Amino acid sequence: MGGAERGLVDLVFDTNMVAPVGPAVDRFERELEAYTGIAHAAALSSGTAALHLAMILAGVEAGDEVWGPSLTFMGGVSGLVQRGAVPVFFDNAEGSWGLDPALLECELSSAKRGGRLPKAVIATDLYGQSCDLDALLSVTAAYGVPLVTDSAEALGTLYKGRHAGKGALMAALSFNGNKIITTSGGGALLSDDEALVARARFLATQARDPAPYYQHSTLGYNYRLSGVCAAIGSGQMQVLDQRIAQRRQLYSDYQALLADAPVSFLPEQPDGRETHWLSVAFLDQHEPEALRQALEADNIEARPVWKPMHMQPLFAQARFVSRRAVGANLAVCEDQFARGICLPSCSQLVAEESRDFDRVAEALTQFFG
Ligand SMILES: *Cc1c(COP(=O)(O)O)cnc(C)c1O
Repeated sequence: MGGAERGLVDLVFDTNMVAPVGPAVDRFERELEAYTGIAHAAALSSGTAALHLAMILAGVEAGDEVWGPSLTFMGGVSGLVQRGAVPVFFDNAEGSWGLDPALLECELSSAKRGGRLPKAVIATDLYGQSCDLDALLSVTAAYGVPLVTDSAEALGTLYKGRHAGKGALMAALSFNGNKIITTSGGGALLSDDEALVARARFLATQARDPAPYYQHSTLGYNYRLSGVCAAIGSGQMQVLDQRIAQRRQLYSDYQALLADAPVSFLPEQPDGRETHWLSVAFLDQHEPEALRQALEADNIEARPVWKPMHMQPLFAQARFVSRRAVGANLAVCEDQFARGICLPSCSQLVAEESRDFDRVAEALTQFFG
């Protein structure tokens, strides 16, 4: 927490506005709009809920295909699966965390020839790095396919000077406990299209028709964010820029510390500002699992990179599209999973009063000798 949250939560209690409607929710939504520059935001109970609604709003129905990156978190995929849609998973572009626009273009062109375009494309902004949004937008627009961004890990990430997801049909954010700021749990759906966000709010509030009694003409959900959580979010917005600075600092501290170790990092994308929500390193000589266990022995938590969706038991039947995975070659995202490790990335690690970074640095130095 940053400090202002408790006072804002007190205000919610004092005014008895704890429900998922009211001034605290409105305020948080306006703050998200102002910060991202995306015109409309609906505060929701999770990023997963936001992406589920995005699939409904994109018109995704049972049997449709939805395309997206294989290297992502399940919360970005479960919404389309709940729709009964068929996921097709794509490899990342070399040297990035994001969907490969050229690969997507190639596949869209053959899908068009086959008369079976996807209903939507979801692009993920992974680990605080934006996807190549303009390239993906121009490719998808050429085929009339809507593009949604899963920006759950990218609040505060800039792409060519604008916020991640700005320009996509819809963008989803998450305020889960592990994200760069948190409402304890929560999310948001953002769009420049006011009607889409209004529809998202309607669906998130049980799709109640405008009638004095409870009447439903369509299936809705209970997906709104409570006033208490929204107040926490408003407090967190006050420290967001500080958190971004801390995560960026941490990333460059790791790079400096490991400059001579057999370790590499992805270069920053040109024209962007990455938040480095998580600091991810690639090991050139060691098993990430060996490092993870060595840190664990010191009571320091590190984690593997997201396991690609096409390698998940749940998606054993799904199609995976890659230009690299030929014969014994690993696909880009398979290699990222095989060699990557998410180093401890809490903003607090670099806070002045904390000695934790020194402790992590010591353990890493020992591991790499
Ligand atoms: C966290 C996350 C989500 C889901 O957000 P929740 O608020 O936890 O439901 C979706 N996609 C990605 C890439 C995420 O990291």
